[in-house]
Amino acid sequence: MIVAGNWKMFTGPDPRALADRIAGLQGVEAIICPPYTELRACVDAGLTTFAQNVHWEPEGPYTGEISPPMLLGLGVHGSLVGHSERRQYFGETDIDVARRAEAALDAGLRVIACVGETQEERDSGDTEMVLRVQVGVIDDECGEDDRLVLAYEPVWAIGTGRTATPEMAQEAHSFIKSILDRPVLYGGSVKPENAAELMAQPDVDGALVGGASLDIESFVEICEAAARSRS
Ligand code: PEP
Repeated sequence: MIVAGNWKMFTGPDPRALADRIAGLQGVEAIICPPYTELRACVDAGLTTFAQNVHWEPEGPYTGEISPPMLLGLGVHGSLVGHSERRQYFGETDIDVARRAEAALDAGLRVIACVGETQEERDSGDTEMVLRVQVGVIDDECGEDDRLVLAYEPVWAIGTGRTATPEMAQEAHSFIKSILDRPVLYGGSVKPENAAELMAQPDVDGALVGGASLDIESFVEICEAAARSRS
C-alpha cells in the first residue's frame, strides 16, 4: 500500500517530525509531495519525496517549470503529474500529462499520474469514457512501467469533503486497471474516518491525500489504516 500526501501550495508539517512518526510503519510506503521550496528539507529528513509536477524537457525556456534532472539533482524520488488542479487551472491536457510522465520515468523518477472525471462527466454517464481517454494516453506513452502508479481522483471529491463510496472507487479502479495494469491510489477527501473502508477494496492500492496530509496525526492515522488493510 502507498499513502501519498499532496501538500499543494501549503506549508506542511515539519519534515523531521513527520519522518519520526512514520519511520516504524510496516506494510505501507508514505510519500510526501511538498511545494518545491520544501523538497530539500523533505529529502534531508529521509522522507520519500515527490514533486507536484515535472516538465518533459531536461532544460529550456519554460519559465516556472522544473525538469527531471533538476529534481534528481535534489535527491527527489518522483513526481505527481496530471493533478486535476493542474488540468483545471493551468490548462494541462492529457497529452501534456503523458509527456510529463514519460520524461520523468525515462529520467529515472517514479510517477503518480492522476486521472478522474468531473461531476458533469459523471452525471452525464461519461466516467468510463473520460478514464479510457486519460489512462489510454498515459498507457500509450508510458506502458506498464514499474515506477508508474496511477491515482483515481474524481474531481468532484477533491477538497470538497465529498468522497466516492468504496463501491464507486472499486469500480473505477478495476476499470482503470483493465486499461493499464498498475497500482491505483484513491484520492478525494480521504480522512482517517473513511480511509479504512476505501482501502479495504481489492483494487484500491493506497491513497493520495490532500487536506488531511497537512496534519501529522491525520496523515499517520491514514497510513496506519492502509497498513492494517492488507495485514
Ligand atoms: C489531492 O489534492 O490530491 C486531494 C485528493 O485533495 P483532498 O484530499 O483535500 O481532497
